[in-house]
Amino acid sequence: MRIAYGGVVHETNAFSPIKTPLGAWEIALGDDIWTDTDGSKTNAGGFLEIARREGWEILPTIMASAGPSAPTDGETFGWIKASLIAQLKRQPVDAMFLSMHGAMLVEGLDDPEGELLGAIRQTIGDKPVVVTLDLHANNTEYKAAMSDAVFGYDTNPHVDIYERAVEAAECLADILNKKVDAVTAYAHSGIMPPTITMLTGTGAMEKLFKRAKRWESVPNMINVSVFGGFPFCDVPHAGLNVIATANKDRGLAQAACADICALARSIKEDFLAELPDVETAVVQARTLLAQDPPLPVLLADVADNPGGGGSGDTTTLLRALIEANVPRTAAALLWDAQTVETAIRTGVGNSADFSVGGKAHSGYGPPIRAHATVKAIADGKIRLTGPLGRGATWDVGPCARIEAGNVQILLSSRRFPCLEADIFRHLGIEPAQQRLIMVKSRGHFRASFEPLCSAIIEVDAPGAANQNLSLYPYKRVKAQPISK
Ligand SMILES: [Zn+2]
Repeated sequence: MRIAYGGVVHETNAFSPIKTPLGAWEIALGDDIWTDTDGSKTNAGGFLEIARREGWEILPTIMASAGPSAPTDGETFGWIKASLIAQLKRQPVDAMFLSMHGAMLVEGLDDPEGELLGAIRQTIGDKPVVVTLDLHANNTEYKAAMSDAVFGYDTNPHVDIYERAVEAAECLADILNKKVDAVTAYAHSGIMPPTITMLTGTGAMEKLFKRAKRWESVPNMINVSVFGGFPFCDVPHAGLNVIATANKDRGLAQAACADICALARSIKEDFLAELPDVETAVVQARTLLAQDPPLPVLLADVADNPGGGGSGDTTTLLRALIEANVPRTAAALLWDAQTVETAIRTGVGNSADFSVGGKAHSGYGPPIRAHATVKAIADGKIRLTGPLGRGATWDVGPCARIEAGNVQILLSSRRFPCLEADIFRHLGIEPAQQRLIMVKSRGHFRASFEPLCSAIIEVDAPGAANQNLSLYPYKRVKAQPISK
């Protein structure tokens, strides 16, 4: 058996100030896609493990990914699609295993992922196509129909990326070994919740996944994936949806999708989120710190999460922390290549006037002008040891830590969400030894940081990924936004 493997991964925020030209994509073709994947707890690592067990020959196609940002342009998408298909045509294959995010948009194109699947279908005919998707996918009927089996993450923070790839590859093995005949069904709930309340360990999503697990225990059900959706996409299909995969029985898959969507509608109020504004959040943090907790209080700058299309350089919350000047405060990760350069030029131990952040979009607050001391410089190549990508290496680019009053500001020259405590350690800060931490991340930081903090406060500050959906000028969304 020869199996094609590939991935096209982009979570698109239609309101993001960060553009997504071809240069924003990291693209590897053919054998180059395997760099740093073997043995890692990633999608590719999970696929390779089962491929080896099954004795599959692999045809690597393309691995294209870009950090969450605005819709990519049609020419770039056309190039990516053509490259995938050209790679796929190099040799005949028995199946395709494809990793996608599920909430990708292209300028003028609502369902580029469906289009990719359609092109793959055209190339390999009715050979099996198995797809893995992020929990925040906005899916379509067409995307499901073009796939033989679909596997979304069951966790948020997404700590089961590797496990779902293993499950998907095992299902592909069952299809190829004629043990199952997989069929999919899709349904949309009609609601569009904010991402802040999509954590799977609590609230509405916990209930929906419990129901999905119950359906998965029914004979002939292969997988039931609940997708919270990604609300920063202005397309008719944005919002909470379900794809179920069953053995032969499409009616069974349809029943599971309909049931979970009905449950989601009935508990939609559980998705409502109200977050404290910056001023209130700082007061809350001070009150908690007055009780002298053994671990730091963490403030999450959720609206500027680069992992959701935020620029990662908004300044409102950071400015308030500098004004609060609490001893042992550390904030990460500010995207500001210019300030990193200034810090490198200034040199460790020296002080200078800095203009921090506020450069990507004038609407989210001006740069912070501060006299600060350079405390650390690093190359930004971070080997992850935490729960989200253990074994993988992130390259956040040259980075620096500067100290303004009592606040350590961690800066990177590439835009990355602060998901892992390793980012702080890379610049010489042990997060657990701080009193106040700020991270630019919406929820994924929790997997790494929850054990290191005494409390977490999610803050309503300006940014492209604000959880108050009424702030966004939606024109084409059909679902009901769950918002105050
Ligand atoms: Zn996600």
